Amino acid sequence: MTAPLQEIDGPDGAIGRPKKVTVIGAGIAGLVTAYELERLGHHVQVIEGSRDIGGRIHTHRFPGGGAAGPFAELGAMRIPAGHRLTMHYIAELGLQNQVCEFRTLFSDDAAYLPSSSGYLRVRDAHETLVDEFAAGLPNRHYRDNTLLFGAWLDASIRAIAPRQFYAELHDEIGAELLNLVDHIDLAPYRCGSAGNRIDLHAFFADHPQVRSLCPPRLERFLDDVLDETSSTIVRLRNGMDTLPRRLASRIRGKISTGQEVVGIDVRDDEVVLRIRQGVRTFTRSCDYVVCTIPFTVLRRMQLTGFDQDKLDIVHQTKYWPATKIAFHCREAFWEKDGISGGASFTGGHVRQTYYPPADGDPALGAVLLASYTIGPDADALGRLSETERNAVVSRELSVMHPELSRPGMVLGVAGRAWGARRWSWGAATVRWGQEAALREAERRAAARPQKGLFFAGEHCSSKPAWIEGAIESAIDAAHEIEWYEPRASRVFAAARTSRADGSA
Ligand SMILES: Cc1cc2nc3c(=O)[nH]c(=O)nc-3n(C[C@H](O)[C@H](O)[C@H](O)COP(=O)(O)OP(=O)(O)OC[C@H]3O[C@@H](n4cnc5c(N)ncnc54)[C@H](O)[C@@H]3O)c2cc1C
Repeated sequence: MTAPLQEIDGPDGAIGRPKKVTVIGAGIAGLVTAYELERLGHHVQVIEGSRDIGGRIHTHRFPGGGAAGPFAELGAMRIPAGHRLTMHYIAELGLQNQVCEFRTLFSDDAAYLPSSSGYLRVRDAHETLVDEFAAGLPNRHYRDNTLLFGAWLDASIRAIAPRQFYAELHDEIGAELLNLVDHIDLAPYRCGSAGNRIDLHAFFADHPQVRSLCPPRLERFLDDVLDETSSTIVRLRNGMDTLPRRLASRIRGKISTGQEVVGIDVRDDEVVLRIRQGVRTFTRSCDYVVCTIPFTVLRRMQLTGFDQDKLDIVHQTKYWPATKIAFHCREAFWEKDGISGGASFTGGHVRQTYYPPADGDPALGAVLLASYTIGPDADALGRLSETERNAVVSRELSVMHPELSRPGMVLGVAGRAWGARRWSWGAATVRWGQEAALREAERRAAARPQKGLFFAGEHCSSKPAWIEGAIESAIDAAHEIEWYEPRASRVFAAARTSRADGSA
């Protein structure tokens, strides 16, 4: 298992001389790689194409109030408390006092979810959810608690999975799973203010055998459902970007922004980067490079000296888009509607709506994360112009929250369509629905170095689409460079080539 480097023992003297390493990308993977390499005594320089650091951790700050003013998380917004590596760096960087609760989907009884008869409050939804869920089952002779379990599991998956993926998973919750659950006493798992929900986390924690007997696709998706609806998720009070910023401030090597890598040439004893800075393009010869940019960006570049298997994984790794749209509101109007936080499942083009805490000065207003979409829904929004996109979200969300259409309620809008952003062309790698062995094979192929070129980033990890995965991959890459012996590997490669040639 990956562990921060100071916890790993190596044989005395096994660590080589300082190396000069160029890291491409100042997202969390690039920054952690640089930080760990420097701690091992190596010299590091970071090259970032955009004007900012942090990559897919992006906190948008609305005008007024400065750093303490209202902000929206347009990239990563929460950390499951079990993400050990992420929590380790938060503590190591002195950000522990920033850690606070993140309230998630359905955590507030007053939040909404859609039904065929309109929006329902979470606290009142159980009867309709159960009726609608049971109506789709071939056999309805289950115990009440079993149907309640199925209905809430189905509602959670519907709120988290992209629409098309949900349709496939919905069928898997059917007979097989319910037959298993029907034999278990669910009374201890009833929760919610009126005891009309089932605590899915406690249930699956106590009954791992049920989980392992779930249909395969559902079993693999459960991790995300449980992570995203957990009651132990946290956030950073002053914005998630405090993590990459603090990390960057601890790196001694230069972090250059506005330098876009446009080509990579892997040679036997160097890696040559072609870099565009404004209108100028230049080359840079490097001993070692760690590439943390998403494969969606890499596959658009000129790549030479890569082997065919590596090119295949660069071109074939699947990414999903995500689009987030935040409204800076005059006031936290949802609080008057009884909602103190968490999120609603709005459905339609809007999908999820989050109510971040309005901790700051009320005179500065409050932020509503109006829409968070992934997959094809995100693409649909991402294809619209910014004005059209904001109008669609505003129109759809006003059905649930008519306060939004009051004159002067929305002071500003900020959004990001990650699928259309040139520095990522997607939000994250998705390996849902794949067998564990295939997932691991893809991860290894993604992370496999090419001579002096190493790879990190969420796409090279066992936890894709999370900060945790990006950090895991960064620590792995730092290890690999630390132990890399270029000459030994070249001699080995030469021996392999001569064997393949049939020469002695
Ligand atoms: C909408 C959204 C919500 C998310 N929510 C969560 C969440 O709640 N919790 C969580 O843990 N994770 C979440 N994630 C995932 C998490 O943000 C990522 O897994 C993680 O930040 C990826 O880090 P990375 O360093 O691998 O990649 P990136 O952050 O993408 O870093 C790559 C860097 O390379 C730069 N770059 C790209 N091209 C070039 C080039 N040609 N030359 C030079 N530099 C280049 C980019 O600008 C970027 O800074 C979310 C992601 C998105 C998009």
